[in-house]
Amino acid sequence: MQREKNIARARLGALTASAAMLAACGHNHDDAAPAPVIADGTKATLAMLETTDIHTNVLSYDYFKLAEDKSIGLERTATLIAAARQEFANTMLLDDGDTIQGTALADYQALASPPIGCQTTLAVYKVMNALKYDAGTIGNHEFNYGLPFLAQVTGSKFDVPNLPPVAQQQSSSGPTFPLVLSNVLGAKSTQPIFKPYTIVTKNLNATGPDGKTVTVSVKVGVIGFTPPAIMSWDKRNLEGNVYTAGLKESAEKYVPQMCAEGAQIVVALSHGGLDNSTYSPTMENGSYYLSTVPGIDVLMIGHSHQVFPDATSTIAQFNLPDVDKVKGTVNGVPTVMANFWGKHLGVVVLSLNYANGTWNIDKSATKVEARPIQNADKTYVAADPAVSAAIAAEHQATIDYMKTPIGSTDFRMTTYFADVGDVSAIEIVNQAQAQYVADYIAANLPDQAGIPVLSVSAPFKSGFGGGTDFTDVSAGNVAINNAANLYLYPNTVYAVKVTGADLKAWLEEASKRYPTKTATQALVSSYPGYNFDMVTSKDFTYEIDVTQAVGSRIRNLSYKGTPVAANQPFIVATNNYRASGGGFPGLDGSKTIYASPDANRDVLIAYIKKIKSMTAVANGTNRSWCFTKVATQGPVTFKSAPNLVSLAQAQGIANVT
Ligand code: MN
Ligand code: MG
Repeated sequence: MQREKNIARARLGALTASAAMLAACGHNHDDAAPAPVIADGTKATLAMLETTDIHTNVLSYDYFKLAEDKSIGLERTATLIAAARQEFANTMLLDDGDTIQGTALADYQALASPPIGCQTTLAVYKVMNALKYDAGTIGNHEFNYGLPFLAQVTGSKFDVPNLPPVAQQQSSSGPTFPLVLSNVLGAKSTQPIFKPYTIVTKNLNATGPDGKTVTVSVKVGVIGFTPPAIMSWDKRNLEGNVYTAGLKESAEKYVPQMCAEGAQIVVALSHGGLDNSTYSPTMENGSYYLSTVPGIDVLMIGHSHQVFPDATSTIAQFNLPDVDKVKGTVNGVPTVMANFWGKHLGVVVLSLNYANGTWNIDKSATKVEARPIQNADKTYVAADPAVSAAIAAEHQATIDYMKTPIGSTDFRMTTYFADVGDVSAIEIVNQAQAQYVADYIAANLPDQAGIPVLSVSAPFKSGFGGGTDFTDVSAGNVAINNAANLYLYPNTVYAVKVTGADLKAWLEEASKRYPTKTATQALVSSYPGYNFDMVTSKDFTYEIDVTQAVGSRIRNLSYKGTPVAANQPFIVATNNYRASGGGFPGLDGSKTIYASPDANRDVLIAYIKKIKSMTAVANGTNRSWCFTKVATQGPVTFKSAPNLVSLAQAQGIANVT
């Protein structure tokens, strides 16, 4: 009997023969409770729907611009969800994480005072509850506001050192659907802090072998994974409280358990993209290797903010061997990534046949697609009015908060030309951070007095999401929404003590923003803008020679006109992400001299409130760096937003046409 089952699965192409022997699904079913009465030959279609990286974009609204943005929002994905529920007899709705952070609405609910109470459900979960999700997982950004907040808003109790004993933790309101996460474990308990997996029993409208409609059930196991890199990204929240396990190791441990408990189909919700470089239990994007773990039938991925499948995709991770960007498979496993901010709905349609006591997937009939909220004619699907009605109060409170005035500016502060030297949206951030750290050192760290205090920041919004994805604050009055536009993330200020050599290595890393030379030369690479750290101080100057290899690009570093010595000390104001590690040379947390509790954005708001009026001369035109003059072999291209050359010229950027 068991042998027949394995053969059946192998014939369907679901698994190789050896994998089928390892895959536990169906194995112990015969030994458990009596099997439900489902006739062999019963067929059903089950559509698995994915949202990912919603980042609290519940509404089609840009809180920085205080204006509608129809290109985003769960209120429009909700319309696609409703349509899919009409189209398919059976559906399951799943979320892949990065859910509770990412808009002003999220920050307002998490950080504005008073913070939301225990019995209040977070706006995004309120809407997801109404949409009747079946399960969700936890992304890296869920950890940004700390473990106590995460426990509260998810209705969880975590057995971790920085929370009271579990018995004393209050119950709170959270999602009414299960959240699963298998690879983050309590430091003390050594157990996953969330349920590693859940098994959902779904009733299916199916067709019996006699052609009659029948209602039968299927047990779907859902397991979750988050990037192990959370340990450096959210070190301040996580160190000493939790640790991570590898994706593969976690799946190999739990998938057989899920199958033993009766899961007939296993869906992996993996908040991470695809990377086929040598496997490591700490790799950021481990979903490629997850697809090789026997027993996983469907892979829902995220974190990279991309669309998969997509036949035209030029994204490296979707052009790897064994990744089929047309069909939507990774090592043969149906896989979907539904972009970000509600722009797409992932759909994996499974054709199920009941045979030999379990459900089998007819892999040849599986269909995978990512459906956009944008129609072919560039219009957008309508918003589901129930969504905005459900969170009207939270939305309005966020808008009111964002409109709070804090100062004024006599110049337009933008990142359109930050890659070619404009600092109009960066210098004020560096000034605020440097002042904050200098004040702290003067008051609390007398032994560090006299060491120059610099600051780095970056063009956080630099066109990744297209021509509207730039910081743009008009001249005139400045409110909190503008400050949030200038500093996008809920980071906190950290100060590190480094040497001149460290600082050079830091800026070398940031100079990866410019690619190594190719035949046709684009100025800017895919290296993220938020990693393009720069100093903006009259005292500290350097050149970037884009014709050199990384490591030899930063030239003529000087402080107050004198070349910087390799062992010369500097204190640099930055954020917790950068100070704690995450790929920048030498920055592993050991150089932090001040890990402040204050958000960079709040420090910026306080600084603008204090100086009141910002001017281009004092706050928006002091550059630390320029390009080394080089001979080019042909035109060098640079993408920004349309119709802004005059703005570049007004900011003194003379080398762009
Ligand atoms: Mn994300
Ligand atoms: Mg993520």
